[in-house]
Amino acid sequence: MTAELRPLSRDHFDQLWKAQDGQCALCGKAMPRVRFDVAHASIWKKQRPTFDHIIPKAGGGPDRLENLQLAHAVCNKRKGKRQAGGSDGRVAT
Ligand SMILES: [Zn+2]
Repeated sequence: MTAELRPLSRDHFDQLWKAQDGQCALCGKAMPRVRFDVAHASIWKKQRPTFDHIIPKAGGGPDRLENLQLAHAVCNKRKGKRQAGGSDGRVAT
């Protein structure tokens, strides 16, 4: 019997961190785990690990472990912007 994890809890974080070996799911580079891993708060703000919904919440994706991955704050933001831009997959050049 496993206890139900609270959405986006520390347990989710630890499990995902372990599964991804501390690497960003979007760019594949290492993420700092805690604020003190980086020199400046401004770096932390961009590089900190955040929960990314594989199926976006807007698209009905649940707050469940299967639908979550960890990604840098900047990578997460970039992805969110791309998805918000429509679904035709075209890239403006
Ligand atoms: Zn990244």
